Amino acid sequence: MKLPNEIVSAQPVSAQSGGIAEPGGIKDGAAAWVLSRVKDWSRENSLWPATFGLACCAIEMMATAAGRFDLARFGSELFRASPRQADLMIVSGRVALKMAPVLREIYDQMPEPKWVIAMGDCASCGGIFNNYAIVQGVDRIVPVDMYIPGCPPRPEALIDGIIKLQQRIAAGHRR
Ligand code: SF4
Repeated sequence: MKLPNEIVSAQPVSAQSGGIAEPGGIKDGAAAWVLSRVKDWSRENSLWPATFGLACCAIEMMATAAGRFDLARFGSELFRASPRQADLMIVSGRVALKMAPVLREIYDQMPEPKWVIAMGDCASCGGIFNNYAIVQGVDRIVPVDMYIPGCPPRPEALIDGIIKLQQRIAAGHRR
């Protein structure tokens, strides 16, 4: 993880000195690059999940935010009641067919850029519920950025998924 001062010092020498006669476009480009890296760094380290638990996996998600596992260490402890304040949807549990349009509406209400984690087997592929009532993978409803296997995945697995998503965001991953 890079800190902002490391990002600034990682600029090309010509952009740091400011005195070299170069076309203005290069300076503007360097400034835009630094700004975009700072934005990525901020997003990466302050993913705010929407409060959205569907089944037993949600208990593990709640445990992840509690003191023992302390998701706050990775900047993602602020579960928001409004999707308009969230940029991460953790689909924790099986998605019933009736719930699918609700899930999609919540996703649509989240501002861009936004990311989705499918937590557990049920969210990823329907799990043991191979029947007409359960959506066989939440990627049929919303685009998924990270899958976390397990029934249920332990809090450590969710933290691992969030860290891997942070690494992708740091690398500029967007939908
Ligand atoms: S994956 Fe397992 S723990 Fe998670 S919602 Fe499905 S049945 Fe429950």
